Amino acid sequence: MDNCIFCKIINKEIPSEFIHEDNEIIAFNDINPAAKHHVLIVPKKHIPTINDLNESEEDELLVGKMTVIARNIAKERELSGYRLQFNVGRSAGQIIFHIHLHLTSDG
Ligand code: 5GP
Ligand code: ZN
Repeated sequence: MDNCIFCKIINKEIPSEFIHEDNEIIAFNDINPAAKHHVLIVPKKHIPTINDLNESEEDELLVGKMTVIARNIAKERELSGYRLQFNVGRSAGQIIFHIHLHLTSDG
């Protein structure tokens, strides 16, 4: 989508180091980390918020896959514990309107 910073990262218009990339999902470090580990797991499909998910197998599988990728990154990094968070809507602190799962951990 035009003017979406995460779409620009996905399309490599903004150079970024990817922690994970497959045909549907990318992951990269948050530019302003809130913890020692702060990774964003982002679908390539532009969906503004969790409220915009379709009740389709495609979208349900996509969100499930984001969680599994977050788990794999936590496992690779041998994190003893971690948090997974979606901010939904401006009042909950969402500032980028392209869904993303925050993985945060201090180890
Ligand atoms: P939100 O508040 O929308 O759930 O989270 C957006 C996150 O994206 C924030 O933690 C913010 O630091 C991060 N962020 C915003 N712009 C960029 C960027 O250009 N690159 C990266 N890597 N992270 C960004
Ligand atoms: Zn987007």
